[in-house]
Amino acid sequence: MAEPQFRTPKGTHDVLPEEQRYMTYIKKAVRHRARQAGYKRMDPPIFEDRRIFERGIGEHTDIVEKELFSVLGKRSEEQTDKSEFALRPEFTAGMCRSYIEHGMQQLPQPVELFAIGPCFRHDRPQKGRFRQFHQFDLEVIGLKDPSLDAQLIHVVTKIFADLRILDRLTLQINNIGTAENRTAFVQALKDFFIGKERNLPELDRERLTTNPLRLLDSKEEDTQVLLKGAPLFEQFLSDESKQYHATLLEYLDALGIAYVPNPHLVRGLDYYTQTVFEFWDQTTGAQNAVGGGGRYDGLIELLGGKPTPGVGFAGGMERIIWHMKEAGVQAPHKDQVDVFVAQLGPEAKKNCLLLISELREKGVHTVGALGEASLKSQMRLADKFEALFALLLGKMEVKRGTIILRDMKKGQQQEVPFDGIVDHVITLLGEKNLDTYTLRDQFAGPTDD
Ligand code: AMP
Repeated sequence: MAEPQFRTPKGTHDVLPEEQRYMTYIKKAVRHRARQAGYKRMDPPIFEDRRIFERGIGEHTDIVEKELFSVLGKRSEEQTDKSEFALRPEFTAGMCRSYIEHGMQQLPQPVELFAIGPCFRHDRPQKGRFRQFHQFDLEVIGLKDPSLDAQLIHVVTKIFADLRILDRLTLQINNIGTAENRTAFVQALKDFFIGKERNLPELDRERLTTNPLRLLDSKEEDTQVLLKGAPLFEQFLSDESKQYHATLLEYLDALGIAYVPNPHLVRGLDYYTQTVFEFWDQTTGAQNAVGGGGRYDGLIELLGGKPTPGVGFAGGMERIIWHMKEAGVQAPHKDQVDVFVAQLGPEAKKNCLLLISELREKGVHTVGALGEASLKSQMRLADKFEALFALLLGKMEVKRGTIILRDMKKGQQQEVPFDGIVDHVITLLGEKNLDTYTLRDQFAGPTDD
């Protein structure tokens, strides 16, 4: 085959039908569990004023510094150095902007929202890391209590259990203190490095002024050696934060949720305060987290709203799909072809057009070969479509007022009256395929999106 002239941009992929069925299944599980817990769906725009991400996520984080996709305005504006907009790298900042913009503080609190859709980060593509990927996102805004953090985590574990991947994951959890705790710690860290700057690699020297906390997970050996004598964050964690965390862990215990306390977990976004958590792949750990979240009590104020607490979670759908496939979880889908209709001769073709339409009207997924191919090659097509039944109408059957009904799995066929064939097929599908039908309707929901 010739090389295609065009391909998907680096780091993006087509969500082909085979993967789409997993996407749909995940979305259904998310919608089902979210609605059960009172969350309402909203979708912020795919691009926003870039300052929302700069202020919220933090100007000196990887996501903003290196990974934001700029969106240019009108052609005439393309010459300016800095675009006004950026594609969303995640949902939380946009959802909080929406909370403020639509006066949601007037609603009964907390406001529980969920969103599902694509996010964009100009990352170096590698396994499980794309430039366009999909997240589902849950946010609880307006009240602060460890029970809200626990309940959010509970909903997430229910979703992972529904998708049958919970046992492949570990919940890592930590408390990174209040903004005040962190300010005090950052100051102590800066003081500690006074006179030692020259020994830091250049990038880390820069981070010491822009975002000193990032020194903690620096990959540079020199930095790590220096850090051995540095103050520890635990020393700056207030009693209130410690108490908050202890209560949260008690609630998780009460809900029967297993967790791993992880004092090194910080998450790469500035807006987090206190609770942070991630779901890690049991075998490979942090690089392949399927989701993460935490509390962000200062974010709404940073975006110009009144001080308002919040807690949220985002799951990465491509990584979840990977886990589902690894675990051998089949995503049920609605694309199963129930009936394949084959025909030969002009009269048969006309009758089949009508028959196909009637079957579809009754909810039977029907595909028809309406070309001129031989019955034999039409049957091969029926096989390829993995249809459950085939209906064959040739010249002889039209004359006799019959049709041939073939059970594709059993490879058996019989000639039956043409009249009443639609009801006959529906009865057979009901008997044969009960499982498929119940699975198709496992999560009620009007659309697949
Ligand atoms: P974060 O808030 O950055 O931890 O992102 C939440 C989740 O989104 C991660 O745990 C991943 O599952 C997913 N995710 C983040 N960035 C990417 C990416 N570049 N490609 C694929 N999935 C991603």
